[in-house]
Amino acid sequence: MMAALKISGSMSTALRSSNYLLSAKFLMQIHFTRKMSTDAHSIASQLNNSGLLRTQGLIGGQWRDAYDGKTIKVYNPATGEPIADVACMGGRETNDAISSAFDAFRSWSKITAAERSKFLRKWYDLLMAHKEELAQLITLEQGKPLTESMGEVNYGAGFIEFASEEAKRIYGDIIPAPLSDRRLFVLKQPVGVVGAITPWNFPLAMITRKVGPALACGCTVVIKPSELTPLTALAAAELSIQAGIPAGVVNVVMGNAPDIGDALVASPQVRKITFTGSTAVGKKLMAGSAETVKKVSLELGGNAPCIVFDDADLDVAVKGTLAAKFRNSGQTCVCANRILVQEGIYDKFANALLDAVQSMKVGDGFSEGVAQGPLINEAAVKKVDSLIHDATSKGAKVILGGKRHSLGSTFYEPTIISDVDNEMRISREEAFGPVAPLLRFKTEEDAIRIANDTNAGLGSYVFTNSIQRSWRVAEALEYGLVGVNEGVISTEVAPFGGFKQSGLGREGSKYGMDEYLEIKYVCLGNMNKD
Ligand code: NAP
Repeated sequence: MMAALKISGSMSTALRSSNYLLSAKFLMQIHFTRKMSTDAHSIASQLNNSGLLRTQGLIGGQWRDAYDGKTIKVYNPATGEPIADVACMGGRETNDAISSAFDAFRSWSKITAAERSKFLRKWYDLLMAHKEELAQLITLEQGKPLTESMGEVNYGAGFIEFASEEAKRIYGDIIPAPLSDRRLFVLKQPVGVVGAITPWNFPLAMITRKVGPALACGCTVVIKPSELTPLTALAAAELSIQAGIPAGVVNVVMGNAPDIGDALVASPQVRKITFTGSTAVGKKLMAGSAETVKKVSLELGGNAPCIVFDDADLDVAVKGTLAAKFRNSGQTCVCANRILVQEGIYDKFANALLDAVQSMKVGDGFSEGVAQGPLINEAAVKKVDSLIHDATSKGAKVILGGKRHSLGSTFYEPTIISDVDNEMRISREEAFGPVAPLLRFKTEEDAIRIANDTNAGLGSYVFTNSIQRSWRVAEALEYGLVGVNEGVISTEVAPFGGFKQSGLGREGSKYGMDEYLEIKYVCLGNMNKD
C-alpha cells in the first residue's frame, strides 16, 4: 500500500511559501501568485493528521492505487503548481468498485432507515467538524476564494444533513381498492447501485447532493469525481469511513473518464447514473445507459438569463447580478450568462454594475478580501477569450476587462461587455467565466422571448418591484429555477434541476429523494378467504 500522502515536491515549495508576499516584479516574471494569507503548510499537515489528504481510490473500503500504478497530477489553478499525484484508474478498478457496491447493497438496503439516518448524521457532523480543512482543500485544487469554499462546505454538508433527516420519511401509500377483497400498497425501494459522476466547480457539493439521498434511500454508490478536483471527494469519502458507513457503500474511482464512464453505463449491476457536468457528456451517458435501461438523472449546462426591468430596485439588481454572475469566477451552471436590461434603466444599471465589478479584488483564493480567484485551466481562459472576441467582432463593446489579468496564470479580469445580441456566441454558449454580457430589451414580452430562446433551461433571474410582473415572468420562463430579486438561490431544501437540455430529474429537497427510489405496487387479493 502506498502512503496516503503523496504531496509532490513543488507543492512542498508552495507550502513553504505561506505568508510569503512576492514582489510585483517577481509576479510578472513567473506569471502566478503564491501569496497566501493562510499557512498552506499547516493546511497539509492538518489534512494529513486527520487522514484527509488521500490520493488513492476507494474500493470496497480499501484505499487502492490504480492497478497499473498510473497516477495523474492535481494542480493548484492559482499557481499552476502540482499539489499531489492521485491514482489514475480506469475500467478494471471501476468494475471492482461496482462489485463492492453491489455486495454492500444487500446489507445497506436492509438496515433500518433510522440506522442509515444515524450514519449520515455522523458523516454530516464530521464534515462540519473538518469544515476549515475541507474549505482549504477546495480552494487549493479548485481556486475559489476561501470564504466561498467555506460556503460550499456548509452547502455540501447540508445535503447530507437533509438526507439524514429525510431517510426516515420515505413513505409509501395505501390506495383505496376498487374491489372490496383487495388491498393495494405502494412500496418505495432503493434502485440499487448508483454511478455518480461529478464536475470540478463544486468539488464537494456536487457529490453530497447525489450521495446523501442515494444512501438515505438504501442505495450504494460508485463516485467518479473530476480529475481536476479529486482531493475533496477523497477527503469526503475518508470522513464517510470515519463515520462508520460500511465498506463498499461509498466507493471512489478517478482517472480515465471515458473508461470509467463506459464501465458504469455498461454494467447491468449499476441501476442508476446520476451526472452533473456538460450537456455533451450527459448526452453520451444517457445514450450509453439505454443499453441496460438505467434510470438517469442529468444536471447539465445552463444559459441563465438575468432580466432587469425598468421598475427594479437598482441596488438589489446590481447586488443580485453580481452574485449570480461572478460567484466562483462565473464557473457555476446557474451563473447569469446573459444580462437582459430594459432600455429605460440600461445606462444607469451598466454604470452601477461597472462600479461594483471594478471594486472586486482578484487573486489567490487564500488571500484576504479576494472576491475572484483563477479560472480552472487554460482551456477555460481560451473559451472566455474567444467568446469575447466573437462578440466584439460583431459590434459588442468591452466596457470593463476583456483580457487576462496581470496576475498571469489563469486569472482573468472581471469583464462587462455591452451591446450584445442574442445571436452572438456569448449568448448561445455557456461562458463559464467572469464575463457579464449586457443585452438591451424594450418590453416584457421581448425579455421573455429572448430569455427562452435557448436549448438550456436551468437558472434564471428576474429583478422587478412589481409583484404581478414577477409572477407573470416566473411562470413564463422555461427554466427549472427562478430567482426573483435574488442572485443566490441554491439550497439543499429546494429542488434543483433543469428544463430542456439542462437535464432530467431534480436534486435536493424531498423531490431529490425520488430519483433513487423504485415504486413498487403490491396488490393483495382474496382478502375475505382464510
Ligand atoms: P464535463 O467535462 O462534462 O465533466 C463532468 C464530469 O464528467 C467529470 O467528472 C468528467 O471527468 C466526466 N467525464 C468527462 N467525459 C466523460 C465521459 N466520456 N464519460 C464519463 N464521464 C466523463 O463538465 P465540466 O467541464 O467538468 O463541468 C462544467 C459543466 O458542468 C458546465 O456545463 C456546467 O454548467 C455543468 N454543471 C451543471 C450543474 C447542474 O447542476 N446542472 C452543476 C455544476 C456544473 P474528468 O473531469 O475527469 O474529465
